[in-house]
Amino acid sequence: MKLVLASNNRGKLAELQAMLAPLGVQLIPQAELGVGEAEEPFPTFVENALAKARFASAHTGLPALADDAGLCVEAFGGLPGVQTAYYATQFGYDKGDANNVRALLEQMEGVDNRRAAMVSTLVAVRSPQDPEPLIAVGRVAGEIAREPRGTGGFGFDPVMYIPAFGKTFAELPTEVKNAHSHRGRSALQMLALMREHWFANGAKP
Ligand code: IMP
Repeated sequence: MKLVLASNNRGKLAELQAMLAPLGVQLIPQAELGVGEAEEPFPTFVENALAKARFASAHTGLPALADDAGLCVEAFGGLPGVQTAYYATQFGYDKGDANNVRALLEQMEGVDNRRAAMVSTLVAVRSPQDPEPLIAVGRVAGEIAREPRGTGGFGFDPVMYIPAFGKTFAELPTEVKNAHSHRGRSALQMLALMREHWFANGAKP
């Protein structure tokens, strides 16, 4: 089965393709089918992922899969959430990982509740009108470190401290991080949902 992926991120494509291969799913990045970027105006991950999946499905006539992800900081009422990629720009910095980390540490100076989670939401639809989208949420909880540590990963990994490991994500080997990441968890759940709802008894969506 062909499934259009509403993202042009090569890393995500490879990771998700590997996860869904056992179902016989072939993921096609939306740009290859001439699909542009959908609007993402909503305050929640699930709404934005659904909007992107619907848009990709409407423009290709294929089932579609989309993700939305970000950092949710408890002391900030769960923000920056859907604005995570642009977090630094709220404080006058250019968009980028290093500035995001810097802005976060500045905003959390003097804040004792350091609890935060990386969240990944995946939504799959069989058609733009699909009344039963498949929704998978992966979450990894940790604490925002007081200073960056480690050189691996990307994004907030140098300050995402995982108590169970006693290390930040950036200090862990890639395979360990991926096995425990929000994205790994949401992809595993999506695999199970597709198996149950789309491919049960050999049925095709
Ligand atoms: P995206 O939607 O996966 O592109 O990510 C949204 C924001 O979350 C970007 O600022 C990323 O840098 C950040 N982010 C996504 N995944 C991770 C991760 O695994 N570790 C740290 N930051 C991440």
